[in-house]
Amino acid sequence: MPEEVLREAAEQMLDWHGSGLGVMEMSHRGKEFGQILAEAEADLRQLLAVPSEFHILFMQGGGLGENAIVPLNLSRGGVVDFVVTGSWSTKSYKEAGRYAQARVASTNAGNGHTDVAAPAQWTLSPDAAYVHLCSNETINGIEFQELPDLAALGSRAPLVIDFSSHVASRPVDWSRVGLAFGGAQKNIGPAGLTIVVVRDDLLGHALPICPSAFNYRTVADNQSMYNTPPTWGIYVAGLTFKWLLAQREGGLSGVAAMERRNIAKAELLYGAIDGSQFYVNQVAPAWRSRMNVPFQLRDESRNQAFLDGARDAGLLQLKGHKSVGGMRASIYNAMPLEGVQALVAYMREFERSHA
Ligand SMILES: *Cc1c(COP(=O)(O)O)cnc(C)c1O
Repeated sequence: MPEEVLREAAEQMLDWHGSGLGVMEMSHRGKEFGQILAEAEADLRQLLAVPSEFHILFMQGGGLGENAIVPLNLSRGGVVDFVVTGSWSTKSYKEAGRYAQARVASTNAGNGHTDVAAPAQWTLSPDAAYVHLCSNETINGIEFQELPDLAALGSRAPLVIDFSSHVASRPVDWSRVGLAFGGAQKNIGPAGLTIVVVRDDLLGHALPICPSAFNYRTVADNQSMYNTPPTWGIYVAGLTFKWLLAQREGGLSGVAAMERRNIAKAELLYGAIDGSQFYVNQVAPAWRSRMNVPFQLRDESRNQAFLDGARDAGLLQLKGHKSVGGMRASIYNAMPLEGVQALVAYMREFERSHA
């Protein structure tokens, strides 16, 4: 989280703009919260350049909730194609199988989720209701640098992307997307808010068993207020959107500015890993994530010493996910370049003193 956003939320915690109420105490149907919601939606639309034929929904249930909610709304119980590139898309595939005929169009399990086949090599089903992929695999550190153009591959299926862990870190090519979902907790705000951006023609096809509160048509028709939305999460996300819109970098602003910074951060860290004898990143360079950088010490017996020293240097949360081990630096939007510079300096010093 950007520190400015946290400070502003703290300052307004007990009294939002002189209203005498904190956001958590407001009626979600009152005019104050109505303004917060409308601004958050408009700012997100501007930030991500979301075209008018897409709805922006503020939901609950998280990324894993959407793994069920998407097939409940879009699959019509038919065939759905999955591009499996790591832990998250594997979870999405398994969950969808409860509601639809989930198929694997491509998987990189064979190479340990370190490289991805080109879209032209995927086996897309002619009758798929949609194609799902995770545009940034948080645990494996794999990111799509470009979304596939399914129409150019002869598919009529809409593309569904899980962009939880890199939303707002780079622009989205909406001409290639039917639906995007993401939990807010990585790049946008507190846990508990889920963002869904869905094209209008994909609404209204939910299975009868779809819970009403998770029916996209119902949520859209009620401006995300069919039931009480996660008001605090929407408020803090809204502050983050304003912070993002105000960012400037080399003549760029908003998400383009963030992208410029994120490229510089990622290049610095991958450069340090590749240039060392001590650390290694297994992901094929073309697929390396700018947000989540997993790396291993070549001598894994030094893992604990590395983490202890990092903690002493104020570098926290570097332990890799238990499924891949090693280390992982999540360098989300709010992580400044100085944070990555500090990590790289620590890595070099650790290598020097342990070589
Ligand atoms: C963190 C993350 C999720 C999280 O799902 P929750 O249900 O909100 O815990 C989903 N997908 C991806 C790619 C993630 O990084």
